[in-house]
Amino acid sequence: MKVMKFGGTSVGSVESILTVKRIVESAQEPAIVVVSALGGITDQLLRTGAMAAAGDQGFRESFAAIARRHAGTVEGLLPEGRNRASLLNSLNQLLNELQDIFNGVYLIKDLSTKTSNTIVSYGERLSSLIVSHVIEGAACYDARLFIKTELKHAKNIVDTDLTARLVRETFRELPKAAIVPGFISSDKNTGEVTNLGRGGSDHTAAIIAAALDASILEIWTDVDGFMTADPKVISSAYTIKELSYVEAMELCNFGAKVVYPPTIYPVFHKNIPIRIKNTFRPEVEGTYISSHKSEGSKAIKGISSINDMSLITVQGLGMVGVIGVNYRIFKALAKNGISVFLVSQASSENSTSIGVRTVDAALSCEVLNEEFAKEIETGEITRITAESGLATVAIVGENMKHTPGIAGKLFGTLGKNGINVIACAQGASETNISFVVEAASLRKSLNVIHDSFFLSEYQVLNLFVCGIGTVGGSLLAQIHMQQQKLMQENGLKLNVVGIADAKKALFAREGLNLATYRDDLKEQGVKSSPDVLRDEIMRMNIFNSVFVDCTASAEIAGLYKDLLSHNVSVVAANKIAASSRYADYH
Ligand code: ADP
Ligand code: ASP
Ligand code: MG
Repeated sequence: MKVMKFGGTSVGSVESILTVKRIVESAQEPAIVVVSALGGITDQLLRTGAMAAAGDQGFRESFAAIARRHAGTVEGLLPEGRNRASLLNSLNQLLNELQDIFNGVYLIKDLSTKTSNTIVSYGERLSSLIVSHVIEGAACYDARLFIKTELKHAKNIVDTDLTARLVRETFRELPKAAIVPGFISSDKNTGEVTNLGRGGSDHTAAIIAAALDASILEIWTDVDGFMTADPKVISSAYTIKELSYVEAMELCNFGAKVVYPPTIYPVFHKNIPIRIKNTFRPEVEGTYISSHKSEGSKAIKGISSINDMSLITVQGLGMVGVIGVNYRIFKALAKNGISVFLVSQASSENSTSIGVRTVDAALSCEVLNEEFAKEIETGEITRITAESGLATVAIVGENMKHTPGIAGKLFGTLGKNGINVIACAQGASETNISFVVEAASLRKSLNVIHDSFFLSEYQVLNLFVCGIGTVGGSLLAQIHMQQQKLMQENGLKLNVVGIADAKKALFAREGLNLATYRDDLKEQGVKSSPDVLRDEIMRMNIFNSVFVDCTASAEIAGLYKDLLSHNVSVVAANKIAASSRYADYH
């Protein structure tokens, strides 16, 4: 048997649920099918609960929209008749309960964790009910009866042994397709409804696969597989064919949201392979994750990142050579349930930097200042503060171990693009190099690293064209004509991300439309000036960018120095800089 998990977008609409039906019904072996809530519903349930608790009447309409979305989906899936009526009836029972809970929250103006967990559980309860009525020979199960959690460090942790036993008992006999709501669970002592955390349906599926020794765990989602980077940030990212468990774990632990991090361990433990598939393009092979290390392939398999992190540095000359400082740092943080995802300490031992999520930063400083109060008072250690607004990027690959020069290339690439590295860490396992940059440089960092480490199908060049007279206008017309040919024949994507004349300026990270730019500039452009141009180009902070000066303006030529020092290349048809005073030229 196999376990298949379908995410929110895969069960988000009538068409996609019909696709899921086709995929499940054509499976060659019995399947346990784990489903998420309809796409967006988990967020909407949380929002509606928050509105009700805040006394905002809008919660009623928000609830009504949730109810309409589910009823509409059923109506689109099943023709009028007994089946549809019976499903709508069961659906309405759940929705009525949910409405009562929202009303209760509104009246009492209180939203405890227990209530919030109850509210959010309806997403998966509703979706699994719907899917089980659509798939031939399917039976619906209640995951709260066999996925059991216990409270540890203020977090609901799965009781693995108990859960495995209950899963085995529940699925001693299998229907053709067993539909299971993902994400939801219950406390093993109190029976209260809990959940496995956002994105937790993947984890539900992995737990079941491991308990039943499934042949494979299939994660069906809305992308072609595990990609070299988040495709929403890197347009040239592509699908990775094969990953080892370690690589997959490193990548998803670091923000590649395609798989929820705790998912890998249970199946890794049982050596059950994972395949990531695209529900909307089932013919695509996807990504295969197993214990197999792909020898001889690229050193770097993927890049991932975490935004919104803070760096906390414990430093002071009083730390040098003192035993137990790090022990105290980690003990204090662990006692307060704070997870640390990056550590960097220089061999001089006079500072230790740790990366935490920004939501944990204030508490981290508080507990560390308390822990080291005595040393701070005597000046041995500096008062501990957090530097926020940062992001961490990780490059991952098991073959880095055998390839010298990766770190050199990485930091060289960042340096050449004017990106400052604030902290970095590489473990001796050499499967991951992580570094911290300003959050504003994250997108650029990901792009330049992707560009230098991966042979993408194409490379991107981002142009700012200033001046649209005879020279600039012809240049833009030529680029427009050649864009497609350059992409197809030379793998070069020429992206014009900014156009300006003396009056107006227009910018767009994803590229401007060269067929309509004159009208767009008039209608949507902002007032143009050399300062506006410089500030906006720097604010956009785009990788591989070139400023093309097609003006005859001394003021525009005066921008080159700033642009060059910010790693923006300059191409000038404007002769002024090169033919005026030698000092300007220099
Ligand atoms: P589901 O609802 O199916 O669980 P998610 O939204 O949780 O789907 O995860 C899929 C999304 O993960 C993709 O749409 C993509 O934007 C994002 N993502 C981030 N990093 C990666 C990556 N390296 N490879 C593929 N997808 C990624
Ligand atoms: N529905 C839950 C969420 O949105 C769980 C999941 O989809 O994996 O986080
Ligand atoms: Mg997910």
